[in-house]
Amino acid sequence: MRSEKASHLYLPAKYATIENIVSYSVPEPNTGCYLWLRGANGDGYSCFTAFYRTIRAARAICILQYNLDPEGDWVAMHTCDTPLCVNPQHLRVGTVDENNADRDRKNRNAKGMRNGVHTQHNTKLTVNDVHEIRKLLAAGVYQADIARKFNVNQTTISEIHRKKTWAHV
Ligand SMILES: [Zn+2]
Repeated sequence: MRSEKASHLYLPAKYATIENIVSYSVPEPNTGCYLWLRGANGDGYSCFTAFYRTIRAARAICILQYNLDPEGDWVAMHTCDTPLCVNPQHLRVGTVDENNADRDRKNRNAKGMRNGVHTQHNTKLTVNDVHEIRKLLAAGVYQADIARKFNVNQTTISEIHRKKTWAHV
């Protein structure tokens, strides 16, 4: 197995099994997500090389789980809305249109997701979100209200407040 970029994984096709892919991820106890931390591309999605191409880890799971065409016109969708997640139970297959509509609906900022790579928590939040959360906390807004606004647990807000997470932001 060779490695050109430290975090990028090259998985020979015969080792590209769900079990193997999942074994490279880190379980997130709160959400049940398996976070893929081996490297993310520019838009924050996990990727590695298998099936003779660089591929998103979540897509690889769907190919194996549902026996799909790697080149097919389909999208691996996260029911947990965590792009780094490779838990097969959190993945379903959708159309490109469906995925776009889903993203619009959730108003997700996928660009910021790469900043979540370094933490096992708060993968839904971006650095900009955390800046805004800190502003709201400083302004005395209730943590529960902030949590609702960003669609995360109050614990997440509390941990940001106490700098248990996102201390670098
Ligand atoms: Zn998940």
